[in-house]
Amino acid sequence: MRNPGIHIAIYALAVLFMANLNAVSDTFLHPQLAYFDKEHLLVGFISGLFTAVLGGALLLYIRRTDAALNKLNRLNARLRDQTIRDGLTGLYNHRHFQEMLRHEFLLARRYDSDLACLMLDLDRFKEVNDTHGHPFGDHVLAGTATLILNETRITDTVARYGGEEFAILLPSTDQQGALAIAERIRARAENYLHRQQEIARIVTISIGLATLAANRPRQPEELLARADQALYEAKTAGRNRVMVASPDATPPAA
Ligand code: GH3
Ligand code: MG
Ligand code: MG
Repeated sequence: MRNPGIHIAIYALAVLFMANLNAVSDTFLHPQLAYFDKEHLLVGFISGLFTAVLGGALLLYIRRTDAALNKLNRLNARLRDQTIRDGLTGLYNHRHFQEMLRHEFLLARRYDSDLACLMLDLDRFKEVNDTHGHPFGDHVLAGTATLILNETRITDTVARYGGEEFAILLPSTDQQGALAIAERIRARAENYLHRQQEIARIVTISIGLATLAANRPRQPEELLARADQALYEAKTAGRNRVMVASPDATPPAA
């Protein structure tokens, strides 16, 4: 409704017409009663006007309440989004990742599907900050987030896990599939030149990978811990590489 004034005017005219219709019809049907006289018309006009004004005010009130409710819903959605996202990168935050980890873990168990978890850490990032300053470090973090999002699916959960650490959940993805994605992210980072003013720099990533089928974690946290352990091994092995968590011989919980 672009112009509520026009709608209310049409509504008021319709009410006025209806209020006087009785008097008009009675004039023809019962001429002896003389309904169509000044007095009846005046009463019809006043009651019609009263109804029109009240109805119009009610319409306006409904419209305003509706608009206020829509605004409130939009604000609520934005607020909820802010509580689950990281301000710098726009990725999910640590807390939401933990929730999603439990959720995806239960789903995978329920449907007997695989689930992969990647832990990523930027290599020698302290040096980036120390050499080029914190704002450039922030710029690299945001660029890395975009790079990761470009290599993952909409159904994957991508989070900024901590300072320069990222975590990814890949539902229905086995070790081989996850390894391909992790390697793609690593290679993209290796070739990605972060540019800002006169600074241009490549920052590499180390990645640890664990999966439900290969590592058989009993709890969601165990899957994450295995990926984290593999990440640590990637670091000690020289960085800029993907390391797969060694298969776990422990049988799954009954
Ligand atoms: P490694 O290869 O072993 O991972 O070395 P590293 O230097 O990346 O690791 P370290 O843990 O020593 O340093 C992490 C750095 O990340 C230090 C900290 O200043 C930086 N950092 C953490 N959060 C932010 C952030 O939000 N913005 C910026 N610019 N830097 C951050
Ligand atoms: Mg770190
Ligand atoms: Mg690091």
